[in-house]
Amino acid sequence: MQELIDNIVKKNSELTKKGKVADYIPALSKVNPDYLGVAVKDSKGNLYYSGDYNKKFTLQSISKTISLMLALMDNGEEKVFEKVGMEPTGDAFNSIIKLETMVPSKPLNPMINAGAIAIASLIKGKNSEEKFGRLLSLFRKISRNDKLDINEEVYLSEKRTGDRNRAMAYFMKDVGIIEEDVEEVLDVYFKQCSIEVDCVDIANIGLFLANRGIIPDTGEQITSEHIARTVKTFMVTCGMYNASGEFAIKVGVPAKSGVGGGIMAVVPHKMGIGVFGPALDEKGNSVGGYGILRDLSKEFNLSIF
Ligand code: GLN
Repeated sequence: MQELIDNIVKKNSELTKKGKVADYIPALSKVNPDYLGVAVKDSKGNLYYSGDYNKKFTLQSISKTISLMLALMDNGEEKVFEKVGMEPTGDAFNSIIKLETMVPSKPLNPMINAGAIAIASLIKGKNSEEKFGRLLSLFRKISRNDKLDINEEVYLSEKRTGDRNRAMAYFMKDVGIIEEDVEEVLDVYFKQCSIEVDCVDIANIGLFLANRGIIPDTGEQITSEHIARTVKTFMVTCGMYNASGEFAIKVGVPAKSGVGGGIMAVVPHKMGIGVFGPALDEKGNSVGGYGILRDLSKEFNLSIF
């Protein structure tokens, strides 16, 4: 197994040359585009890793899975899906265009930026610190890493330059999707995107989802099986943005990518996989990470379909 994973990382390392590091968030543009790593944690507790598996990166859109989970736990399904839809968009993750034209006017799903910002507004707490604090504690618990924290530079960089997200949030406030103070909501969103992790952390989170919302080492049930399933289903239909259909065919497991270069993948009942490669394709997915997942899926017959 270890040798196989080493070979898969080596084989895909050339792919990083085909991608580009995200630079629309200035702090992200400083990372080495050649990094490539993977961690696989299986339900028996075995951990395999290779390459730059211990390099740190920020969760970015990967955080949208767990913020959705918390919003569902806090509010129930009915309230959440009154505000956000369940359909893939076919547009870029930060697209603004359908916000106004959809009837009723609401973001199409919780994995695009607009949807995730609406979801952040539903997390309970008396102010943005308390809301984000609850989300961070959840991340620490399910990643089995109580040291997780935000990368302050990335957080401030995104807060300073996140005008497209800000525009969508103010629009959603205007039409009543967001009921809270917009800057407070954005603060929670920018912070969740800036949580710093490595491949092992997201492999653990993936394994927790694979294990139906139960932490495998402790047996603690953190969320219902139904909510864990909802999150995984969104990962299949919308997790790789407007490349989700192709990814379902080529890899075939629930996955969520982020512009920091990470992809968290879930093999139901079996394993969590974390990959990191900051060179992204034109849709914002890690090129090398995608390649590693495609090869792992082929090698171990992981597709759920
Ligand atoms: N923080 C990023 C943004 O809001 C998250 C997007 C992503 O990872 N695709 O633009």
